[in-house]
Amino acid sequence: MVRQQIEARGVRDPAVLAALRKVPRHLFVSEALREQAYGDFPLPIGEQQTISQPYIVAEMTQALALTRNDRVLEIGTGSGYQAAVLAEIAYRVFTIERIRALYLSARRLFDEMRLYNIVTRYGDGSKGWEEESPFDAIIVTAGAPEVPESLIAQLAPGGRLVAPVGGQHTQELVRVTKEAHGIRRTDLGGCRFVKLVGEQGWKEA
Ligand code: SAH
Repeated sequence: MVRQQIEARGVRDPAVLAALRKVPRHLFVSEALREQAYGDFPLPIGEQQTISQPYIVAEMTQALALTRNDRVLEIGTGSGYQAAVLAEIAYRVFTIERIRALYLSARRLFDEMRLYNIVTRYGDGSKGWEEESPFDAIIVTAGAPEVPESLIAQLAPGGRLVAPVGGQHTQELVRVTKEAHGIRRTDLGGCRFVKLVGEQGWKEA
């Protein structure tokens, strides 16, 4: 998976590659899908949500430019896979999920895997996690019309945010960095994510 899907497409950060080699992705999907867990595509995780394609996880993680001391916020825990990858690299991961069944099963997995540097929360993450802010890095794994302002506000100086932004079906992956003179925004290319549903995302259907 790492060599053919991720290194071959240009992901080079050694910490990202090591984390992807280490985290057992098959544990984050249902038993029926285990054999497909290392394929080059997203997979359903129930509740009409998906675990992202491995390459997208790698690309977004690399774009966060994480170091050992970083505190990271993730919006959209889902299966917990992305959080587990982040937890291999960073100091602590705070992750929020709005669907209770997914929140509960990810939390159970983190316990079983002894990933004690992941802190979970059930609720609307589109407003961020004020009490734990600022964060060195923020990753949004669901698509919103725009990058939520409250998330940018919760970024530390020098902090990096990666989020899919755009329509309900296709988005652009954007990277926002908080610099001394303001915000810098770069486009990383097209992507497809499920909707960020919440106060600073899409309204519930
Ligand atoms: N990072 C996940 C990807 C899950 S898909 C993984 O590695 O598996 C995106 C997730 O975002 C879904 O589980 C969805 O329920 C969740 N989500 C959508 N809007 C949200 C919000 N406002 N707050 C928290 N989670 C949200």
